[in-house]
Amino acid sequence: ILKAEDIHKSFGRLEVLKGISLEARNHDVISILGSSGSGKSTFLRCLNFLEIPTSGKVTVHGEEILVKNGKPQNVRHIEDIRSRLGMVFQQFNLWTHRTALENVMEGPVQVKREPNAEARDKAEALLKRVGLEDRMHMYPSQLSGGQQQRVAIARALAMEPDAILFDEPTSALDPELVGEVLKVMQSLAAEGRTMIVVTHEMGFAREVSSEVVFLHEGRIAEQGPPDEMFANPKTEVFERFISKVK
Ligand code: ATP
Ligand code: MG
Repeated sequence: ILKAEDIHKSFGRLEVLKGISLEARNHDVISILGSSGSGKSTFLRCLNFLEIPTSGKVTVHGEEILVKNGKPQNVRHIEDIRSRLGMVFQQFNLWTHRTALENVMEGPVQVKREPNAEARDKAEALLKRVGLEDRMHMYPSQLSGGQQQRVAIARALAMEPDAILFDEPTSALDPELVGEVLKVMQSLAAEGRTMIVVTHEMGFAREVSSEVVFLHEGRIAEQGPPDEMFANPKTEVFERFISKVK
């Protein structure tokens, strides 16, 4: 469904990604771990071209974008790739002057030109899906962080993406609100959604993901099924990482 090949990214003279390749197949849930500054967010943003890689290739649903010297070779696929990848951010990024329902309807109506009534029905069903049926007409400021993040997840789902990218979706939440968001994510995984999740939640990485990728200084230092990786770290850097976060 989603394939990244030899992704490099530099900011000026700082090389942040040093050749990352990763493939997500249908129903994969891939957790990306790594310490601060290892390039996790940058990699995720390169996948949907919020950040243009310096070089590499991204293929989504058969649409391929090759980048050389910071220049994408087939720009017309970028919008297409973006619309196929949902994104959920640490800071929710909801429209503050729109209700939960309007936030979820926005993409389908504006981007996909869905009729209002249809988009509304779908948005209501999705908000129900994330447990917010009684909060649909509230504005983000009237919602808790956990509720806002669930709106953001519903908003991503509304675009019917092939895969959803999460960048530390629970890091901005008070500890008591983390669980409700993880629960929704776990249920998405259970229904077979393809997800790539940058996270510091080791429980999620171990129990929900099908594959764990550990980034270190812009490279994949270690990668594999969670049971194996946590039971038997192969690199010293990963061993140190898990002993710190446990
Ligand atoms: P965190 O866990 O703190 O979110 P991360 O693994 O997501 O870290 P990135 O945000 O990808 O790390 O950043 C990797 C490196 O790239 C950092 O050194 C950061 O300062 C640098 N960087 C990221 N974005 C930019 C930018 N727009 N311009 C310059 N440098 C950047
Ligand atoms: Mg980050």
